[in-house]
Amino acid sequence: VSGSLDLRATALDTDDPLAGMRERFLLPEGITYLDGNSLGALLRTVPDRVDDVLRRQWGELLIGSWDDSGWWDAPARIGDRIAPLVGAAPGQVVVTDSTSVNVFKILVAALRAAAPRTDLVVDASTFPTDAYIAESVSRMTGARLVTVEPDQLGGALSTRTAAVLLNQVDYRTGRLHDMAALTRACHDTGALALWDVSHSVGVLPLELDRLGVDLAVGATYKFLGGGPGAPAFVYVPLAAQAQFDQPLTGWGGAAEPFAMGGTFVPATGVDRARTGTPDIVSLLTLDAALDVWDHVDLAAVRSKGLSLTGFFIECVDELLDPSRVTVVTPRGHDRGHQVSLQIDGAEALVRALAETGIVADHRPPSLLRFGFAPLYVGYGDALRTVTVLRDLLGAGAPARG
Ligand SMILES: *Cc1c(COP(=O)(O)O)cnc(C)c1O
Repeated sequence: VSGSLDLRATALDTDDPLAGMRERFLLPEGITYLDGNSLGALLRTVPDRVDDVLRRQWGELLIGSWDDSGWWDAPARIGDRIAPLVGAAPGQVVVTDSTSVNVFKILVAALRAAAPRTDLVVDASTFPTDAYIAESVSRMTGARLVTVEPDQLGGALSTRTAAVLLNQVDYRTGRLHDMAALTRACHDTGALALWDVSHSVGVLPLELDRLGVDLAVGATYKFLGGGPGAPAFVYVPLAAQAQFDQPLTGWGGAAEPFAMGGTFVPATGVDRARTGTPDIVSLLTLDAALDVWDHVDLAAVRSKGLSLTGFFIECVDELLDPSRVTVVTPRGHDRGHQVSLQIDGAEALVRALAETGIVADHRPPSLLRFGFAPLYVGYGDALRTVTVLRDLLGAGAPARG
């Protein structure tokens, strides 16, 4: 059985139009990196670019770089590089602060825009930070917090619903939610649709403009590969910018920051989502990392991601004992580029996999997560991982075929 999987993996890797991309990353020899959904790998060209930021832009040009190296305008300029990846026309994406901070901004801005509606609906299985921030926003603003599984959204919506914050891909199960249908359901009741696309940006073509998404945020250090702690982005569509009244009114979001005026007047465009001084080194690390997306078509990334995760699930079915391992990721096309297995001892297995050069992660209590970044993971990696897992689990699956 695994012999034929071997042949399939080799054939699929040979035919893979993205196979050459792995060379562009500085991955250590012998490593199978299945954590690109948490911290994307390092693009080869990034260190020299960052070196230039430090030695020349900072070291030589010093404070002049705010203008001469384009530092001050970098958040919106780099936002415009992300815009095509999320299906946004220029002028609607800005890179600033962390995802957590940006969740706070968009929730408060949405509640202000939707008054007198008072309900804030949040994904019950959301990444914890989104829920924690929403809870605090609720206490701060008096909004009523409603948590709901995205599947059950219809039952939670009413004429009181101000805004709904959902994740496009569930970080535990890898489930991909139907952004078009859920956004429409929000709009049908007059609620604003807010999306956190941290686990889907860089994985599949997004269509924020076309779907009429009201506000969105996303992390850049996951599949986008912007580097540890790279600042996140905020999407504010042109039509919503004049009303976008976010709570962190720092000088960075002001119309004329260098006028040092006594009263806050927000910038006219998406820059009003900024707060303070941008973290230039991280921001320009991200800028350099985004170069890889100049060479790839997201449709091809999506197509390989589905095929690769599908092949991985097939290997699990063939090689692992179903009484010990359950695939919790959907088997249809409603999944992102991550596969999660429910398995006892997930934490110990992550350590054991690491000893063989396979980097994965776990989420308590018993989820083993594998991220498949199509730019640097192949079919052979998928098969090798399941084979090692089978050996670690002791006995193989009952013989079949
Ligand atoms: C990764 C992730 C975050 C991360 O937030 P930080 O502020 O960067 O720590 C937030 N939300 C979701 C859904 C995520 O997947």
